[in-house]
Formats: sequence, structure tokens, C-alpha cells
Amino acid sequence: MTVRDTAPRSADVVVIGSGLVGACCADELSAVGLSVVVVDRGNLTAGTTASGEGNILVSDKPPGPELDLGRLSRRRWVELADDLDTDIEFDEKGGVVVAPDEASAVGLAELAARQRSVGIQAVEATGADLQELEPHITPDLTLGMHYPEDCQVQPILASAALLGRARSRGAAVLGQTVVTGIELDALQRVRAVTTTRGTIATPWIVNAAGPWSSEVAALAGLHLPIEPRRGHILVTEPRGRLIHHKVYDASYVGTLTADPGAAQVSAVIEGTASGTILLGSSREFVGWDRQVDGDLVRRIGARAVQLFPVLADVKVMRTYVGFRPWLPDHLPAIGEEPAVPGFIQATGHEGAGIGLAPGTGLVVRDLVTERTPEIDITAFRPDRPALLPTPELTHG
Ligand SMILES: Cc1cc2nc3c(=O)[nH]c(=O)nc-3n(C[C@H](O)[C@H](O)[C@H](O)COP(=O)(O)OP(=O)(O)OC[C@H]3O[C@@H](n4cnc5c(N)ncnc54)[C@H](O)[C@@H]3O)c2cc1C
Repeated sequence: MTVRDTAPRSADVVVIGSGLVGACCADELSAVGLSVVVVDRGNLTAGTTASGEGNILVSDKPPGPELDLGRLSRRRWVELADDLDTDIEFDEKGGVVVAPDEASAVGLAELAARQRSVGIQAVEATGADLQELEPHITPDLTLGMHYPEDCQVQPILASAALLGRARSRGAAVLGQTVVTGIELDALQRVRAVTTTRGTIATPWIVNAAGPWSSEVAALAGLHLPIEPRRGHILVTEPRGRLIHHKVYDASYVGTLTADPGAAQVSAVIEGTASGTILLGSSREFVGWDRQVDGDLVRRIGARAVQLFPVLADVKVMRTYVGFRPWLPDHLPAIGEEPAVPGFIQATGHEGAGIGLAPGTGLVVRDLVTERTPEIDITAFRPDRPALLPTPELTHG
């Protein structure tokens, strides 16, 4: 392994952040022959990407711009899993959403009907059908919905493979390199990025700094109201294939867009290739507090056992927290900043950044190469009204 002391002096594009979003951007940009430098102030891929469960979901998205990005990304994930020369544990395992009572069953059935109207596969599964999909699930459920298109990937493996491929095309990928400034020219256009390993002259910057993106944006005089939305995950001892799909409670979709306030908990359960089972999840605003909250851990565990009584005998091996990059309208910011030409935001994917990263990489490539993106990205504009600095639009 070669460790560079200094950054290259110039690049066509500097990508700030080596999480999955930055890695997908670097992969797509280097694939079209651009010279790329990726800089990360910490270890590579050690930000929120290292906390993600790796779900690539269509099931939790109603028709609209996020689902469009999700479908573009899903298609690209399938291609990446084929093309990359390492195993990224990509698994088209499907998702199962369950409604424990009548009220949540009505909401789930309505969402599924809307999704079907745009071509998403959502198949009702109750009773024996549901037991066939998930033999250990409680029979005490009102409705189940099978989403065969939901998938899973191992986020760290995927990110490392994408950064490796970008590197093999000539990209420089620098960990332990802090971005300390952004230089603009007299017309407010991007001119250079200053880092702790030197200055890199560049006409394009991609801000893929995840939950820290507001700090990077501020270096260019830009406002971006990203905040960290904390989540807990419990990892069990390896128990083989007890759980076959991504299984979650229909209330999960409500927690995605719930107003900030008390911590939200919903049951999100799935197995992994190594045999461990991931139990989630919680959503709360507590700043950057990394202290695991025992009460939330118990609530997550209890919800999981309600859904899969067999889990009562499975030990939790470790518990960790991560920070989702949250924006007030729950949509990512993807696009060039009109006030600072050359500065592209690629951030704010909250709890869906693993799933949405490949589509984001394609869109960023198209912006830099002046092609028209395959999907309409108007809703992701970084200067949209929901992201403006008005007091009532920040959470508190
Ligand atoms: C508990 C939990 C579970 C999740 N599960 C899923 C899931 O199943 N599916 C899904 O799609 N999403 C999931 N997510 C969300 C997903 O993990 C994120 O949306 C995604 O990882 C964001 O990736 P990113 O590349 O934007 O940011 P990150 O991975 O955070 O990368 C940003 C990088 O920028 C670097 N950086 C920051 N500031 C600077 C600077 N000044 N200079 C240089 N580098 C800098 C950081 O060091 C970091 O490495 C989950 C999140 C959590 C917390």
C-alpha cells in the first residue's frame, strides 16, 4: 500500500467524503475519464456508511422523486454487483412489511396500492403465505406485504470496492486529510480546495460529507441545514438463516417523516451473510452523542421479539449508534449550488443513503459532464425553499 504525503496539485473533481455516496460519485466520475481526488478527514468509509444496515429499499418510498432515485439506484446496484470484482454481499432477498393491527394494515394497503400504480411489486401475504416467507414470524399479524425488489448490500465492502475501482482508474483517495478551506474566484466559482495535505486546484467540488456536510458547505459560504439523526442497531450472535427477508413493521414508514421530538422506535429486522441478525431501529435528535441508550436498546429488542418470538433466545453481541444526515423535508440535496458554480451537493440522504448512493453518483456524473440526468432532480435542488435558513424550518 502506498501512502501519499501530499495531495495532487489539481483535479477535474474533488469529492469530499469517502462514504458510499462519495465512493459512487468517484466511481462514476473516474469511469468517464475525469481525474478525481477523494478526501476524507478520517479513515476511509468510517462515517455513517459504516453504521448502515445496507438495505436498498423501494418498499418504504411512496411514488415521487425519492422513489425515482431509488429505482435508478437499485438498477445500478444490480449492475455494480455484477461488475465489481469483489463480493459486496449484494442480495436480492426481498422485503416483508407487516401490520400488527387494523389501522396500520389500512395504511400499508394504501401505500402498496399507490406503489403498484407506478409499477412496484407489492404482493399481499397473510396467514400461511406469510409463514412460508418467514417461518418464525408471529402469526399474530393483520397484514403482510411482500416486496420482492428490496435488496441488501454490505456498505463497507461496497464502498471499499468502488473506491478501489476509482483508484485503479487513476483517482487519488486520501484518508486522514481534512478539508480546511474552499477557494472561489472573483465570480464566486469554485477554484480550489485547501486541505491538510496541500491545495488542490479544481473547477468542481462534490460535497459528500454526510451528516457533516453543513460544515463543508459553510467553507464555501453556503447554508445547508443538515443535522445528525441518531440511530441504534443491535447485532446478535450468528444464528444462520433465521430471518429470510428484510422484515419491518409498517409503523417504520411513519417514523421516517415523523416530526422531530421524542425518540421513534420501530421494528426493523434482518439476517446478514455472516449469520448475525441486525435489529433496529431508532430515530432521534441528540446531537453527536455516541452514548448507547439502554432504554432504547430494550425497546428495540422487545419489538423484535414481538415480531419474531424465536429471537428471545438469541444473544445480542454488540450495540452501536450512527448518525443519519437529516434534512427538514426528508429529501437529499443533489445539485449544483446556483450561488457557487462548481459546488455540487450530494448529501442529506438520511436513512436511505446506502440505497440511493449509486443513483446519486450517476446524477453527479451527469451534472459535471453537462448531460441531462435520467431522472428529474428538481425536488433535490440544494436551493429549494425547505432548505432556506428560516427559523420555523429548523427543528429546534
Ligand atoms: C443506524 C443506521 C442504519 C442505517 N441503515 C441504512 C440502510 O439500511 N439503508 C440505507 O440506504 N441507509 C441506511 N442508513 C443511512 C446511511 O448509512 C447514510 O445515508 C449513508 O451512509 C450516508 O453516506 P454518505 O457517504 O453521504 O456519508 P458518510 O458515510 O457519513 O461519509 C461522509 C464522510 O465525509 C467525511 N468528512 C466529513 N467532513 C469532512 C471534511 N471536512 N473533510 C474531509 N472529509 C470529511 C467523514 O469523515 C465521512 O467519512 C442508516 C444509517 C444509520 C445511522
